[in-house]
Order: sequence, then C-alpha cells, then structure tokens
Amino acid sequence: MFLVLLSPIIAAIPLLMETRLTVPISAQTLDAAGEKIKAAVAAGAEALELRVDYIKTLTVELATTLIDQTRQITDLPLIITCRDKKQGGANNHPTALRLDVLVAAVRAGVEFIDFEYANFLATENREVIEKALAEHSHCRLIISAHNFKTTFENISSLCRDIETVYPAAIPKLAYKVNHINDCFEAFDLLEAKTRRAIIFCMGPAGSVSRIIAKKLGSVVTFASLDAADATAPGQLTIGEFKQFYRFDAIDTDTQLYGVIADPVGHSLSPHIHNACFAAAGMNKLYLPLWVAGGPDQFDEFMDHILGRKYLGFRGFSVTIPHKADALEYTKARLGFVEPLAEKIGAANTLIITADGRLKAYNTDYSGALDAIASAMGIDWQGLKDIPVALVGAGGVARAIVAGLADVGAKVKIYNRTLKKAETLAAEFDCESAGLDQLKNLDAKLVINCTSIGMHPKVDATPIPAEYLKSDMVVFDTVYNPAETLLLKQAAQIGAKTIDGVSMFVNQAAAQFRLFTDSPPDTTLMRKTICNWRIG
Ligand code: NAP
Repeated sequence: MFLVLLSPIIAAIPLLMETRLTVPISAQTLDAAGEKIKAAVAAGAEALELRVDYIKTLTVELATTLIDQTRQITDLPLIITCRDKKQGGANNHPTALRLDVLVAAVRAGVEFIDFEYANFLATENREVIEKALAEHSHCRLIISAHNFKTTFENISSLCRDIETVYPAAIPKLAYKVNHINDCFEAFDLLEAKTRRAIIFCMGPAGSVSRIIAKKLGSVVTFASLDAADATAPGQLTIGEFKQFYRFDAIDTDTQLYGVIADPVGHSLSPHIHNACFAAAGMNKLYLPLWVAGGPDQFDEFMDHILGRKYLGFRGFSVTIPHKADALEYTKARLGFVEPLAEKIGAANTLIITADGRLKAYNTDYSGALDAIASAMGIDWQGLKDIPVALVGAGGVARAIVAGLADVGAKVKIYNRTLKKAETLAAEFDCESAGLDQLKNLDAKLVINCTSIGMHPKVDATPIPAEYLKSDMVVFDTVYNPAETLLLKQAAQIGAKTIDGVSMFVNQAAAQFRLFTDSPPDTTLMRKTICNWRIG
C-alpha cells in the first residue's frame, strides 16, 4: 500500500548531483559541535552529518537547537543521524527519543535523516518516520545497515530489501573488509546504483572504497575532520581527501592508477604521481592499494580489476612483495612482458591498455641506469666494460645487475651472504665476493644496493671510507636520507656521487611516461619525495 502512496514523492525529491564530501560532527556538547562545524566548513566539507547520538544528555530541544545553530553557520545539506548503540551509536538513547529527534529534524527542514534498516522494519517505527516524511517532502530518508565485523551475506539483496520496504530511501550499506578483494562487490553495487545509494567498506583495507565512491557516484562519502575524530574505521580525513586524493577533481571519467604493495602505507608513489597528475591537469588519480598476502591474493585482485572496466584502472606501480607475481600474472594472461623484466623476474609497472590488455615493465633497472649515465655524462652504451662493484644481492641489486650486465658492464657483486652473491653472479655472468673483500675494491663505479645507511641508522655505511677513491663514481640506492654517510664520505675525497632519490625519481618518471605517454615534471617529483621522506 505505502509503495503506491510514495511514488509521487520519489519523483518530487531531487538527489544531490555530485557525491558530497560529508563530515560527521560527533560532539558531546553544542559548543564543541559548533567548533567542529566551523572547522569542517572551513576545510571544505560539502555536507555535514550531525551525529546527535553523541550528545549524552540528548533531548529533542537540544537536537533542534543544534540544527538551528548549524544553520546559522552554514547552509550545507544536513544529515541527522541518531544511531542505535547496537549499530555503532555512541549512547544508549531510547528508540522513542531517537524517533522524536528525527521527526523534529524533518520538521526543522534538514535534507536527510538516517535510520537503521533493522529498526525501520518495526511497523511502529516505520509509521512514525513515514508520516513525518509524507508531510515534509524536502527530506530524504537514508536507511542504513552496517556490518562492523565482515561482509554482508548478500549485499545486493539487502539493498533490494531496503528499496522494497521504502522505495524513496537511499540505502546506506557499510561493511568491514579484512582484505581489499572484499571491496569489489561494493563497487559493483555502487556502479549499478549510481547517485541512489551510499556504499563503502570500513577498515584500513577498505579505505580506497571511500575515494572510489565519488567516481562511482555514491550520494555521499564520509571524511573525518582529523584522524582522532573518525566515526568509523578506515575513514580518511577531509585534508587527505582534498589535498592528497584530489577529491574535487574526481568524476566518473577519472582514470585510476595505484601502487600495489603489502604494506602500502609508507609508499611515496601516491604523493609523487598525484602531484604530477595534478600539475599536468590530468583526470587521473593514483591510489595506495593494499593487496595483502601472496600470489593468490594478487591474482584475485588483478582478476577483479580486469573484470571491471567501469572502474577505469589503467596502470599500477607494483612493489614488495608482488613484483614477481605481477610478472607471472602478465605472462599467464598472455600480456606483453618487457624482455629485461622477464630476465630480472620482476615487474614493477603494469599497464592496462584501452582494450584491456596487460603490459609488464621494470623501471627499476632503467631508473638506475638513467641515474648513472646522466651523472657520468654518457649514454647506457657508454657503460660497456666499466668495472662496477655492487654491494647487495637482493631485489634492487638483481634489477641493477641485470641492467648493467645487459649493457656489458663488468660487475662484481659483494654480499653479506656469499651464496646469494654467487647465485646472482652466475645468472648474469658476473663475479662475486664476500663483504670482507671490499678492502680490495677496484672499480670505476661503486653501488650500494643494501639498506645500510638508511633512516634511522644513518651512521652506518656499507663500504668503509678508506676503501673509496677520488676517481670513483659512488651511487647509493638508499633514498632516505638522500645524502647517506657513504655519499658524504665519497664526496669528501672528491668522488662523484649519485643519490637514491635520482633512481627513485627516474623509475617513477619512467612509470609516468608509461601511464600517460607524456613527460613528467621530474623537478616536482624530486621536491615531493624530499618533502615527504620520513625522518
Ligand atoms: P632486499 O631484497 O631485502 O635485499 C637487502 C640486501 O641488503 C641484501 O643483499 C642483504 O644482504 C643486504 N643487507 C641488509 N642488511 C645488511 C647488513 N646489516 N649488513 C650487510 N648486508 C645487509 O632489499 P631490496 O629490495 O634489494 O632493497 C635494498 C635497498 O635498496 C633498500 O633498503 C632501499 O634503501 C633501496 N631501494 C632504493 C630504491 C630507489 O629507487 N632508490 C628502490 C627500492 C629500494 P643478505 O643477502 O646477506 O641478507
């Protein structure tokens, strides 16, 4: 019966045309709320959610006073939420009071009220809300369901159930994910419900869904004022949304990129690439993609991505622990693999072409070779027959050894674990030795590929100063700090030095060219890295 009655209302109520960046105001007093509202407006909030359940001494009068007070500060759209404690509410307010508050909010002219689906199913609750909304057609009802532990059993049917019980509702579905791979059903539903639902994933593994929400047309996405003010796990701050993730620039056509890593929080790549996309005015956004686990989780993630053209992912940086997985995945999907990436056994860049094909590259070795060649004033071919001493036999060493061997340099690998140096050397036709042999160092080019000297242990060096000579070129791949003890001591005796930031910038620059077919602003890249380096 109510379905029929509501039909004209659905047509009459306009929806927000853009995803509103909404800041929940979760204060215990009106004064504190006032401060937060002012701060949210100043930070660029596009809607406010007044979480009146946070007010311990809540009354209908207090709630309406808060709405009046907010209206004096801003005319942003308001969502009034008085959440049930069982569904994440801050206090145990009785249902009757919560309903009275919502009805008063509707009468006070707010744009949205939010009520829990579980409670809306009770006829006595539903009738109260339906009556208030029928008398005030400006207000829309958000019917929300949360799962703070895991995914919903069937999110699509839950959404359908909400729409069936109240067709004019905006379903809000939020669930906790423990892995990024659990976000994709939320993306699918949001894509199907563009501008008619609010859907996102909670928890650190789901943070990315809050950003993608704008591209997919969620009615709102929530941002906290600051990290301490978050009302749900994984919520990003309004500053992160605006400055870092370029919220204002995202639209349905935005092409997505990202760094796939585990962990991903420390990665500088989002800072670098987003700064360059913004400077170039490109409708592209770069995201940190926390793909926890090994090859199986990586493959599942990539299957999700390739199966969803609507997401608009066009490229990835890939780092620890997934570089080998990226290469194997591309080979298994019969994509293009750069020959040297194949030889290195690792890809740090994936491209998805417009027709959905996969291409894998390694820009680590090319970034290093570019840094060396540029500092020495030669091209790559000029490295032929140059004697190189390279310390380390891990992932970065492998990429650089492959690149140097490919251009014919004479490389000797020194490593703490001699066996690893021997194995790497055998593969690329180089020599090997233990670290004790560094005393006989005799090379034109010296490269550190270990983590020795990296922040916070900046007083350590992989090569004692007395083994360095003034005619050497010394390259330290460590980029935090840029000027390591090794480079300081090399510079002191007049040797030429190359820092790890150069390699980092070069590999990111090569990725940017693969992503965009355009030259990057490498000065901006270097500046961004130096501003964001820890320590
Ligand atoms: P990895 O695979 O873990 O290899 C680490 C290497 O360092 C191994 O050879 C290891 O020797 C050696 N090592 C570590 N601690 C040591 C110590 N206390 N004494 C002697 N040797 C030690 O790491 P990776 O991925 O190759 O990265 C190595 C470094 O490269 C990073 O720390 C980072 O600073 C730098 N990096 C630079 C860039 C750039 O673009 N500039 C990019 C990525 C990484 P064992 O084999 O004996 O364990």
